[in-house]
Amino acid sequence: MKQDYINRDRIVTALSESGKIRFALIRNVKTVLTAQKRHNLEILPAFYLARALTAASLMASSLKGEERIILETISDGLINKIYAEAMQNGEVRGFVEFNRKEDISKSLQNTKDILGDGILRVSKILYNKGEPIVGIVELQKGDIVTDVSYYFAQSEQIPSAVILDVDFDEKGLISKSAGLLIQAMPGESIDKILAVHRQITKINSLSEIINSQPSLEKAFELLVPFPVKKLKSMQVDFFCRCSKDKFISKLMTLKPEEIIDMKKNNNNELVCQYCNEHYYLEEEDFNKILSIIIAKTN
Ligand SMILES: [Zn+2]
Repeated sequence: MKQDYINRDRIVTALSESGKIRFALIRNVKTVLTAQKRHNLEILPAFYLARALTAASLMASSLKGEERIILETISDGLINKIYAEAMQNGEVRGFVEFNRKEDISKSLQNTKDILGDGILRVSKILYNKGEPIVGIVELQKGDIVTDVSYYFAQSEQIPSAVILDVDFDEKGLISKSAGLLIQAMPGESIDKILAVHRQITKINSLSEIINSQPSLEKAFELLVPFPVKKLKSMQVDFFCRCSKDKFISKLMTLKPEEIIDMKKNNNNELVCQYCNEHYYLEEEDFNKILSIIIAKTN
């Protein structure tokens, strides 16, 4: 049981004693491996999606309750879209869309081709705001790490350091995943900021540091050159709130002819783009949908 707890994917946030430097540290190998397996991704797209999901979790960690972050890249490379959505409560989901999937394994060498030119869009869905708060920056290196740092500097004017560490086993499955986000608020002494900077430039493998310690909390002692105050610890999971019922209620907004066509063509498979879950409509589902639509229109 104890071992189970230690091995859970988790994110821990902490503050410097002055409260002016914020730290978020995550280990999420199970979460991103679930994403890789659900979407049947090869190494390269899995690598990018894992980085995006980790970054989204780190960013969501400063929110409240079920507030969430959607981090998307939209670009003209082999991958044309990465979507990563993370709730403060630890739920994460996401997917990758390809321009030319067949070329993806050939281009390991040229990383600029993977995303190409495009944008990083960050949307925050917050309780007290009717509309999402959206920030858009141009992709810098298209490696997610540089792009997210650039977003913080440009869009939020917060100097930050981001480390995203993803690794694979010999079967091409994600074997390690961790991330660290450090943000300096105005008013922190430059000495402290430089001390943090010096310490993190020494980090070779974030996963190794984390795995060498009994907990994420302990890992902070190796990552930060001064004591930090823990804010919170949250379990992280790949989780999608889709369900067959939710799909069915969306279908109820269609016209009866459209449902009849779907049924006639045996078009009964519903696929969630976020988690790749497949749902199948049965005869009785079609009949139920039809009878409700017809009842509504009368
Ligand atoms: Zn889903």
